[in-house]
Amino acid sequence: MADQVTGTGPRPATWLSVDPAGATALRAARCGTCGRRHLPARDRCPWCGSDELAPELRSSGTVVAATTTMLPVPGTAGPFHSVVLVDLGDDLVAAGQADEELEPGTLVAVAPVAIGSGDEAVIAHSFVRADREDNAHA
Ligand SMILES: [Zn+2]
Repeated sequence: MADQVTGTGPRPATWLSVDPAGATALRAARCGTCGRRHLPARDRCPWCGSDELAPELRSSGTVVAATTTMLPVPGTAGPFHSVVLVDLGDDLVAAGQADEELEPGTLVAVAPVAIGSGDEAVIAHSFVRADREDNAHA
């Protein structure tokens, strides 16, 4: 890979955009031929085969379903995890963990979360309430 990051610490997952200011978004794409959207972004549309996909970023949405699991999630702390499905608009839905129990209808923002440790650590996505003050940097 020509663009490997040379710094230390976890790297963002390929489906995640993290700018230097800390703003985090999911990478999606819209097909220029058939108009369908894909999450995560792809190089080729699986519906029509076109390679004319325009990148789009999604940084917020609305919780459509939520559950809590007591199963351990590798690389994370805590005995329970809230997992949500989030409507990102334009028929794009993403699953992810939340750091608190959220109800359907809650407005959320994409936030970074470190998963794993050492050389295997990555920055993945999670969801936090959009109105939280400590989310202001995202
Ligand atoms: Zn297409």
